[in-house]
Amino acid sequence: MVLETFGEEEEARKKDGKGKKDKKDKKEKDKDIAGSGVSQKETETDSLSQENAVFLKEDKGPFPEDGATAQDTSSSGMEGSLLPDEIYEATIKTGSGHEDESQDADHRGIPTPREIAAIIPSSLSIDSLRQWKVLPMKIEEDILEVGIPAMDHFQNAQILGASMGHPVEVRIIPEEKLMALLRRLYDFRSGVADETVEAMEGIEDLDDLAREDVLSDSVDVPVIRLVNGLILDAIRQRATDIHVEPYEDQVQIRFRIDGVLHDRLQIPRSHQAPLTSRIKVMARMDIAEHMVPQDGRIGVTLGGKAVDIRVSSVPTQHGERIALRVLDKGEGLLFLEDLGMSARERNVMENIIHIPHGMILFTGPTGSGKTTTMYAILQALSTPEVNIITVEDPIEYDLPGVAQMQVNEKAGVTFSSALRSILRQDPDILMIGEMRDFDTAHIGVQASLTGHLVLSTLHTNDSISAVVRLIDMGIEPYLAAGSLIASVAQRLVRRICPVCREEVDPGQLLRSHGVSKAFRGRGCDHCNWTGYRGRVGIYEQFVLDEDIAEAVISSQPVSALRQMARKKGFRTLWEIGLEKVEKGVTSPEELLRVTSED
Ligand SMILES: [Zn+2]
Repeated sequence: MVLETFGEEEEARKKDGKGKKDKKDKKEKDKDIAGSGVSQKETETDSLSQENAVFLKEDKGPFPEDGATAQDTSSSGMEGSLLPDEIYEATIKTGSGHEDESQDADHRGIPTPREIAAIIPSSLSIDSLRQWKVLPMKIEEDILEVGIPAMDHFQNAQILGASMGHPVEVRIIPEEKLMALLRRLYDFRSGVADETVEAMEGIEDLDDLAREDVLSDSVDVPVIRLVNGLILDAIRQRATDIHVEPYEDQVQIRFRIDGVLHDRLQIPRSHQAPLTSRIKVMARMDIAEHMVPQDGRIGVTLGGKAVDIRVSSVPTQHGERIALRVLDKGEGLLFLEDLGMSARERNVMENIIHIPHGMILFTGPTGSGKTTTMYAILQALSTPEVNIITVEDPIEYDLPGVAQMQVNEKAGVTFSSALRSILRQDPDILMIGEMRDFDTAHIGVQASLTGHLVLSTLHTNDSISAVVRLIDMGIEPYLAAGSLIASVAQRLVRRICPVCREEVDPGQLLRSHGVSKAFRGRGCDHCNWTGYRGRVGIYEQFVLDEDIAEAVISSQPVSALRQMARKKGFRTLWEIGLEKVEKGVTSPEELLRVTSED
């Protein structure tokens, strides 16, 4: 089996296709440095005019390999700002006279560590390049292009050129960027950043691997095998998260499977640094930075299946704690019929989602499957005739036939600003990842009152409280009542393994609720001896009819609303869960874990 990382370019392309295209135009000008015979390349970014004195100071860094930059450029041209094309036009008009030297930014990026490594002699140590602050970049027509942080390093560049036997052309690169590139070059040289890695067949025994000398200098560096092994093992076990947790005397690796954390492996503290570095290198994070939280991602293909892994690190007193979230794109999308609803819940759901306008809110803690449910609904509603647009943070899966927009607060793309632009795109159905503030809620309500079906989530525990939360956020009760079709609270419980399921006594508590039998999984190979395999949703559906809407407008408390709803067939999460226990879908322990008795 081969585990390989996606090219960064592909990543950037994907982003580009999704977000608004915003290719920063850059121009380069060559300028003769008096009498030297070498030319200095200047990179111009967004500024309209540039003084020579300024361009020597810094290059604002159009480096596409920088993760943050790539993300910013994918969505920064949202609204109201001067479009890059206009900037480019303006630059030409001011007439600097060097247009013919301009190149498309795409063809002019900084070379990759692999390309750099290919041109420098192996005798040249990266340490000396660091010390001298010079970065050999490429050789074209015998001329060596060298990156330096400022012109006072010009002599260093010349010496480097002499040692490599080439005339030199220099390019100013901000020092921190230059040092970061040298760091990556170093990683590449030491073999840590290999782009394609083989996953060994003998990787089953992770525990043995964890005890190997991670720092050993052999070709198949054990730390690489260890990290690959962890990822493979996690995917095989259907884990959604891998946690790397440093403690005083060891590093604990845990997997989250079907929503529950399991200890997987303990690694000696001495292996922490290489392990952490390896993961950060794969995720294109800054391995020299340990004190600041970072984000990154790793794309792997496994037997032809694409798996996206989001990586985040936070500093703790014992070093960096790393969480890897595995987004298995092939397995993430479920259809409505896969969610585990009873015929009755399913029926209610089918009815409410086919109302052409209004709002449906989904509530529940993080990890309760709200997004999965909304995706399933969007898939059910997706036909060529309807225009579906989503605003999400993050986009968890690609939905065929749906325009998905990524929130990017750094670039000014918030839920509310994205929604305003989206409404001009004539959508029929809108999915808003989360209603965090009044603005977002207000736009959502307005959209649902003006002919759109709006799906969104709120952080409340039960379904009825969603109405109250909406009003607490500043939405007028009559607007809340007028727009809301239903609110749905949900939880995910683990499904008892069908292979080793056996009947058990339901116990006093459940019997007092009329449950006559219960089941559990004994544990077998099929379920990794956990007794569970997969998960299933429990849905509490609060549907607003005219009576209930009236009660919402007159600000009735949750308890009164619940009483009214009960008469119309409303059942709580707990009650629906009890039914699933009795049918042997899940265990009493699971139900108690995710909910409580009323
Ligand atoms: Zn089993």
